[in-house]
Amino acid sequence: MVEKDDWRLRGQEENLFKKKLYLRTWKQVKEDWDHDHCDFCWDKFSEYPEDMHEGYTTEDNYSWICPKCVEDFKDMFQWIFEDKKD
Ligand SMILES: [Zn+2]
Repeated sequence: MVEKDDWRLRGQEENLFKKKLYLRTWKQVKEDWDHDHCDFCWDKFSEYPEDMHEGYTTEDNYSWICPKCVEDFKDMFQWIFEDKKD
């Protein structure tokens, strides 16, 4: 269980409260955009071997959240998990 003053929280509920999340593999779609960060802990997603490859994202692929943070914050944010991968 996480507290409301967890260091990873900085107003994400404005965009992410009760959102649908999709488990996806991060893919580079734009030439000049080679990574994203977890919206909570700031860990990196990319196609590089040293970064994370799979995580939870909103339908538009705008926000990415790592599995650890999803586990920690799913009750607070009441996410809806969609099975469909892509
Ligand atoms: Zn995270």
